[in-house]
Amino acid sequence: MNILMFGPNGSGKGTFGKVLCDKFGIPQVETGVIFRENISKGTPLGKEAKGYIDKGELVPDGITIPMILSRIKEKDCAKGWLLDGFPRNKTQAVAFWDALQKEKIKLDYVVELILDRETAKKRIMGRRLCPKDNNHPNNIYVKANLPVEKDGKLYCRVCGSPGLLTRADDQDEAAIDKRHGIYFDTNKGTLAAVNYFKERVKVIQLDTELGVKEVSENLLKLVK
Ligand SMILES: [Zn+2]
Repeated sequence: MNILMFGPNGSGKGTFGKVLCDKFGIPQVETGVIFRENISKGTPLGKEAKGYIDKGELVPDGITIPMILSRIKEKDCAKGWLLDGFPRNKTQAVAFWDALQKEKIKLDYVVELILDRETAKKRIMGRRLCPKDNNHPNNIYVKANLPVEKDGKLYCRVCGSPGLLTRADDQDEAAIDKRHGIYFDTNKGTLAAVNYFKERVKVIQLDTELGVKEVSENLLKLVK
């Protein structure tokens, strides 16, 4: 089962990707991790990529795509893979699709997590971290994950710990807007990439406004 997953930051790609990976026994493949592995192992592609990263430049698709192909040919991908974080734009989508065709690798599904831009931004900015356990979900903008409020202070909804924290990245509005700008661009950006796949592969669209449990159930019904 080979799956490509799309969704704006804040739509729960990690969470829903894991649901599918657990069901099919496949690994979640992320470009960031692939870059880091190639660089730390000093592979020829890794060395080339590092040159661009060190200069603060984007790694060209001619390096990224072969790296992804070599990753999805590894042993743990024998039953398939779920890739997220790539392609980010239409140009990359076309190049990646052509590469898959050339390698005769079938893409079974494209999953598109649907969430409007404003809600996605609020979900990121509303995240609060429990000082005791990172896995305790708290979010001041998500009804199902509201922290407990007492005398104007917030406490972890799971364990009741005071002193909920925010992550600097989650509060960097400019960075969030920039990433969402690329994602929601239907001309050249990520949504243009999704549209490109709609003409070629089965694309499953999933409304992520619902709770995690309902979205997961819907996802498992649709991808089989
Ligand atoms: Zn907690």
